[in-house]
Amino acid sequence: MAQVKYCLQCGHELSLMKIDGKDYLACSAKNCGYVYWDNPLTVVAAIVEHKGTVLLARNKAWSHKMFGLITGFLEKGESPENAVLREVKEELSLDAKLVSMIGIYPFLERNQLIIAYHLSAEGEIKMGEELAEVISVPPEKVRPWNSGTGPAIKDWLEKRGF
Ligand SMILES: [Zn+2]
Repeated sequence: MAQVKYCLQCGHELSLMKIDGKDYLACSAKNCGYVYWDNPLTVVAAIVEHKGTVLLARNKAWSHKMFGLITGFLEKGESPENAVLREVKEELSLDAKLVSMIGIYPFLERNQLIIAYHLSAEGEIKMGEELAEVISVPPEKVRPWNSGTGPAIKDWLEKRGF
């Protein structure tokens, strides 16, 4: 659910309104008309191939055994390709190369749209501040998870015959 409580235009409290059959938070002030559409945020995700393995990372904020792809939000004025390269640089300190786009995946539970890329990178990994651990997993041992970036990994593995 949205965390916005007040109108971004006039500061009035937002209340739930039905628009075209869906619930939205909208401004209750007269003549304002502001609606908090809560459109999905765009997230870029990277399957980083490094020395024949796939790099999976555990974020500091996550519980112990969870590993995932390198992900990050698309920033204002930034192309998704630049965003994914920037995230890999920030989190792994690697200069990666784009290999291909894997696909676009809705992550409805988090109201996000994930654009997933296959990248290749060489060099030495240095973890950024957000990460607790990075593991190198041979592609044939990667087990895709069900939600979020999992379907992107599944598609990528299937294309490669795993
Ligand atoms: Zn308002």
